[in-house]
Amino acid sequence: MTNILDMFDSDFWNKKSSSFSSDLSSSTSKTEESTSNLSSMIPPQWDHPYLHENRTFTLSELQSFSYDYYIKFSPFFKNQPQGSIQGNVAIIFSSKMSSVLGLADIFSRTIKLNASYFSKDPTLIPYTLFHELTHIWLYDCYKDPSHTASFYQKMKEFNSTLLPVDHKVHIHSRLVTDAKFIYICPNCNRRWFSNKITKHIYCGACKENFDLEFEPKFYKNPDNPHNKNYKLPYFIKPEVEET
Ligand SMILES: [Zn+2]
Ligand SMILES: [Zn+2]
Repeated sequence: MTNILDMFDSDFWNKKSSSFSSDLSSSTSKTEESTSNLSSMIPPQWDHPYLHENRTFTLSELQSFSYDYYIKFSPFFKNQPQGSIQGNVAIIFSSKMSSVLGLADIFSRTIKLNASYFSKDPTLIPYTLFHELTHIWLYDCYKDPSHTASFYQKMKEFNSTLLPVDHKVHIHSRLVTDAKFIYICPNCNRRWFSNKITKHIYCGACKENFDLEFEPKFYKNPDNPHNKNYKLPYFIKPEVEET
């Protein structure tokens, strides 16, 4: 029996859930340029008073700040050529996170942010928020939500805001190729991305097992450049590939 979560045994998948995390490369100290002399060139639509206040922020202040940016960023994630983010996303701050800065759970649509890191310096919240929103947006667009080329392509758009970039997020030096196959859980319809073919799966989301009698559905991923004969569109009435 293969645990379907094991199929995502890469640096990018949290084994316990469908989560993505942004790690810190070394310490949790803030970047030098983040607060001091924060660029007054930030276009007004991306600016916020908290970016200029050098103090510690309460959790509720951080939360409202994050939701403000969630709304501000919606033009990047709505009505895009690839698709739109579907529904709402919850943002919570966790005091239990240490080495991880941010985390996106694509199934529960929750973004968790590191409370102690960001309460000292909220100016870097928009960057990590954009990063985590990109994971959820890719999944909602039926794309591999890992740190793929599409992921970095979307992150480039963040630069247009001129908001501070967190250089301590080392995840941006890693690039993964789009997974070859997309598995759709026959029970809950959640999508899983993998490079392996397996006939025995366990869906980590709904906890259902599937074996030969109830074959997992998988589709060749059209976003994977190494797929020669993929079928389109794979998410509307797809032809099931027999294993
Ligand atoms: Zn990430
Ligand atoms: Zn399932």
